[in-house]
Amino acid sequence: MAASVGTLKPHAVCIPFPAQGHINPMLKLAKLLHNNGFHITFVNTEYNHHRLLKSRGPDSLTGLPSFRFETIPDGLPPPSEDDADADATQDIPSLCESTTTTCLAPFRNLLAKLNDTASSEVPPVSCIVSDGVMSFTADAAEELAIPEVLFWTTSACGFYAYTQYEYVFQKEYAPLADASCFTNGYLETVIEGIPSMEGIRMRDMPSFVRTTNEDDFMVQFIFAEMKRAKRASAIVLNTFEELERDTIDALSSILPPIYPIGPLNLIENLVIEDEGLKELGSNLWKEDQECLKWLDTREPNSVVYVNFGSITVMTPDQLNEFAWGLANSKQPFLWVVLPRGFLEETKERGMLANWCPQEKVLSHSSVGGFLTHSGWNSTLESICSGVPMICWPFFAEQQTNCWYCCTKWGVGMEIDSDVKRNGVETLVTKLMIGEEGRQMRNKAVEWKNLARDSAEGSSYRNLKKLIDQVLLPKV
Ligand code: UDP
Repeated sequence: MAASVGTLKPHAVCIPFPAQGHINPMLKLAKLLHNNGFHITFVNTEYNHHRLLKSRGPDSLTGLPSFRFETIPDGLPPPSEDDADADATQDIPSLCESTTTTCLAPFRNLLAKLNDTASSEVPPVSCIVSDGVMSFTADAAEELAIPEVLFWTTSACGFYAYTQYEYVFQKEYAPLADASCFTNGYLETVIEGIPSMEGIRMRDMPSFVRTTNEDDFMVQFIFAEMKRAKRASAIVLNTFEELERDTIDALSSILPPIYPIGPLNLIENLVIEDEGLKELGSNLWKEDQECLKWLDTREPNSVVYVNFGSITVMTPDQLNEFAWGLANSKQPFLWVVLPRGFLEETKERGMLANWCPQEKVLSHSSVGGFLTHSGWNSTLESICSGVPMICWPFFAEQQTNCWYCCTKWGVGMEIDSDVKRNGVETLVTKLMIGEEGRQMRNKAVEWKNLARDSAEGSSYRNLKKLIDQVLLPKV
């Protein structure tokens, strides 16, 4: 593909929302653009830049001559002296608010700096690839009259469910009448009239809709982001047509052109050969490699991998219920956090890790099931590895992902949100050694094959089209 205009490369500025599940897929997309001849500026927040330096080493963000890292502040107060080493996910609603209200000015300044110093090494910015929830970037793109692509790092079904928030409020399914709706069975109510989502219940919608207050910040934030999405030059999703055709089509009928270009992890593995580019990573925590060695010692498909992502918060009681449910199931497991006293009981079977290289773990032949919070990256990585799931969605569109895994894709079993050890034991046993689990594993392997085909086929072509039709400057 001819990727340069005259002698200058096209220059994409890639800006993820500052949380792990957003930075990972954006970095993969940035690498793929670089592989197609783009100069890349990848914009992290200062907070995450420091965390990346800590987790990946001082040289990890030097980049390559045509893949540079820059920072802007996230608008939140800096960590206090006491927790200067804080290694935690920041509060998501606070980040949504601070990025929306404070990031445009520093982002504009950064673009101006890049353009002022433009040279053959750092060509003028020719397009912006922005996270879907960082859509303040649309203003900057319009000022420079360059294309802006919004990358929604959710599933297509999750994103589509957000586009239906307005309808859900119009039809008065929300706001909830009062707090009793959380416990009186109201959340089982089926929402009628959403095309391509027949049968969806209130509890399967992205969680923010379950509020008693329409003025709730996250609800208003979603309304605003849906409006902004309409201004994008194109919208990119990390999914594939074979998996989410209905919701991709539904989205295409109401929004700018949609390009499903996933699973990005598979495309990255297929096409990126440059060692320097491969080396660029985005884990905000140091990866514990020991768990891979431990997996080498286990039987094929025997281990339950337990990981609730970077944002889920659980109570000590919930942690205990999961722990004892796992112990009672007698299945080997790999988990990131364990309550005290538990490891002693299960030391023959259990492995504790802090933060693991998840894609490698999921594709390890010993892993036979995934107990997950149904974050989109985790779900897609599990599908790509042919691993069936037990879903315990925590928030946002994880509920919708769980509903699709359990009712449409045949690869998931849902665990009660009020988790109890008996429920965990029953589902883990079913998944790992039961007939239902066997069928789900077969189904997951079918999806894995389709995911690989699309990485070589439809999604790969969509990526090329995105570059040709939207991102490359028109000459
Ligand atoms: N991840 C990882 N190691 C871990 C846990 C998570 O590498 O121990 C990665 C995982 O592969 C995924 C991302 O972090 O790419 C988590 O994204 P997801 O959307 O699943 O969940 P979130 O953290 O946003 O809730």
